[in-house]
Amino acid sequence: MSETHFDLHAHSTASDGTLSPTQLMQRAAQKGVQVMALTDHDEVAGLAEAQAAASELGIGFVPGIELSVSWSHQTIHVVGLKIRDDCPQLLAGIAGLREFRISRGEEIARRLEKKNIPGALEGARKHANGNILSRTHFAHWLVEAGYAKDVQQVFRRYLVRNKPGYVPGNWASLEEALGWIQAAGGIAVIAHPARYRLSATRMRQLVGEFRELGGLALEVVSGSHSPSDIENMAQLAGRFELAASAGSDYHGPSNIYRDLGSLPPLPARCLPVWDLPVWSESTPSGAIASL
Ligand code: AMP
Ligand code: MN
Ligand code: MN
Ligand code: MN
Repeated sequence: MSETHFDLHAHSTASDGTLSPTQLMQRAAQKGVQVMALTDHDEVAGLAEAQAAASELGIGFVPGIELSVSWSHQTIHVVGLKIRDDCPQLLAGIAGLREFRISRGEEIARRLEKKNIPGALEGARKHANGNILSRTHFAHWLVEAGYAKDVQQVFRRYLVRNKPGYVPGNWASLEEALGWIQAAGGIAVIAHPARYRLSATRMRQLVGEFRELGGLALEVVSGSHSPSDIENMAQLAGRFELAASAGSDYHGPSNIYRDLGSLPPLPARCLPVWDLPVWSESTPSGAIASL
């Protein structure tokens, strides 16, 4: 008997993914994922649809979110798992982030215009299609308009620090983000911890603060982690007595990381987040199918 395959980090068209919540769940089921989370950036709008699709398909569903956090002049992502999507504190929190995304989008477009790239806001908005505005939407438009060959190149040339379209984040504080997740009954997880370019000292500072604030897990297995990243993050989780999560960070078929269903297992010495007692206790209201 093989172990249940969990994937606790993925995006839909409700944020910067390219599959609808239903299509994402269909692909998860096809690829052998048995418990799938939807964790859109700063958004819960896709959860109801994903949940309905997952129960139709007979797979487990975990309602989640990936919150944008500014910590020590850097953007950090915190995943909330098993959240209630009707929590007023969480909804008020993400409304603020959505507003920042709009003003940031306007500023990105102004900066690109100065570099002779007009029309970026309208272009990005078209790709966002009424959903929250992400740098990914700018990237898709810039590729479509011929300013770069692919999304990766757009980020490298335009959208990262020291590039013309970069606007610093002004996101939630770590304390706010954990407060909203906890208010929504959720479990906080540091997303793709090896992807931040933090020194070992700063990483320990981040993980220490996260734990103090009630954070429970590190995403030890991420679609973007190498085997040595997985090893290092397993060690870090052990050292801070945090549980371990696993998520692909899938954004759709042109995804740059791993496909659904292809995540390596958690290292045996990790405590899986789904084995924490709070995991089975914190089933949100609504008909969440769970294995
Ligand atoms: P935002 O939250 O709007 O700042 O956008 C962040 C998103 O952009 C991430 O969640 C990724 O999906 C995407 N992203 C960031 N850096 C890159 C990169 N170098 N290549 C491709 N996508 C990226
Ligand atoms: Mn993304
Ligand atoms: Mn992320
Ligand atoms: Mn993500």
